[in-house]
Amino acid sequence: MGNYKELQEQLTHTYKNVWSEIDEVETKKVFDLGDEYKLFLDAGKTERECAREIQKQAIEKGYVDLNTLVENKTPIKPGMKIYAMNRDKAIVLFVIGEEPLEKGMQIVGSHIDAPRIDLKPVPLYESSDMAFLKTHYYGGIKKYQWTSMPLALHGAVVRKDGERVDISIGEDENDPILFITDILPHLAKDQYTKTIGEAIGGEDLNVLIGSMPHGDKDTKEQFKLNVLRLLNEKYGLQENDLVTAELEIVPAGKAKCVGLDRGMIAAYGQDDRVCAFAHMKAIFEIDQPKRTAVGMFMDKEEVGSQGNTGSQSSFFYDIVAELINLQTEKYSDLLLRRSLGNTKVLSADVGAAFDPNYAGAYEKQNSGFAGKGIQLVKYTGARGKGGCNDANAEFMAEVRKIFDDNNVIWQTGELGKVDQGGGGTIAYLLANQNADVVDCGVPVLCMHGPYEVTSKADVYMAYKGYKAFYL
Ligand code: MN
Ligand code: MN
Repeated sequence: MGNYKELQEQLTHTYKNVWSEIDEVETKKVFDLGDEYKLFLDAGKTERECAREIQKQAIEKGYVDLNTLVENKTPIKPGMKIYAMNRDKAIVLFVIGEEPLEKGMQIVGSHIDAPRIDLKPVPLYESSDMAFLKTHYYGGIKKYQWTSMPLALHGAVVRKDGERVDISIGEDENDPILFITDILPHLAKDQYTKTIGEAIGGEDLNVLIGSMPHGDKDTKEQFKLNVLRLLNEKYGLQENDLVTAELEIVPAGKAKCVGLDRGMIAAYGQDDRVCAFAHMKAIFEIDQPKRTAVGMFMDKEEVGSQGNTGSQSSFFYDIVAELINLQTEKYSDLLLRRSLGNTKVLSADVGAAFDPNYAGAYEKQNSGFAGKGIQLVKYTGARGKGGCNDANAEFMAEVRKIFDDNNVIWQTGELGKVDQGGGGTIAYLLANQNADVVDCGVPVLCMHGPYEVTSKADVYMAYKGYKAFYL
């Protein structure tokens, strides 16, 4: 009698705040990792830059190019660290396990593309004594958020001579920035009557890139010419080279700490570079795993994962086939099928952190919270779980045990209220190959905004969780 409190403690569960649970030593680790994470974000603001940053760090850690091993027919052995780059836009890291690949892999998979504004193939025009770029946005953005803020231009142009020129304008302290204008409130009467989704249209996202003429009174389109002249001087470009290019407009500037306690980070592109960073750090600390550890950093998730650098591509299966061939010298499709069927995957993507300013969009009891650790998400999808993976309870239990046994503070999380909207990840793609997959990542505030916010505590717990999964 009267032991209800004990019973309650025994039976009920509440997810804990990471900061309240960790000691000083671990808090220091959280902040150190946060500093490194900010640098990672600054180094990779496009999928290409991010893939190259991961490649660079992997090479420093002793990873070797799979192509070299294939060319030399080098047999692969446990402990070998291998990377496979796909067209400079997606990259996969492997640490070969003691068990043969046929027995399956431990994969953590994220994506390194992020919502942004791409240039159209014929972008440049002038109007009213200014030069602008036409754009076509990429992924799910709220268009009104991208006006009246400093913007940068990143990307690659392949010139007529075949040479690729990498471009980054707007990040250096001395660089100019680019800009999308909005109408002043004084004259916004018509705009104010529109819905927030229609207030700025897709064809309104024209980027201001110049305002000085070049030429004399007989010169046509002097403002456009001046921009072309500058692009030619610096990069050797002509107008038609912009057709064979991938140029992306992203918010200018570096990642910053948020709050007087510096507990959070605001930056562009944290969906999904936060999970990419966390599992990159995790796999870098894996040396002799029992099962082969794999880090997948994929492209094109924000537009449906199609294409040769997206998760629907056969690229990953092709490179696993190469590895099996190097390991066994008798590759067969059966070995590949077995390997995938025995594989376990954490689909490392962000979730929506509960936002008290928009509480009505969430169902609080099943929401993830910034600061409560890595999120284990059974299903995503929309309108009755449409398009989701819906992980098996048995596999979720396996992951839960790994986290609990390794002091990983975790929570669960559903993406908002039922029928409020929804979203997807790459989880179903590997699950379709018969692997066990669950979504597992960092909760984010203001997801898909030009700046997104994460808790350093969650970044750390994600890293810790992914590492425990690999071991
Ligand atoms: Mn994502
Ligand atoms: Mn996204």
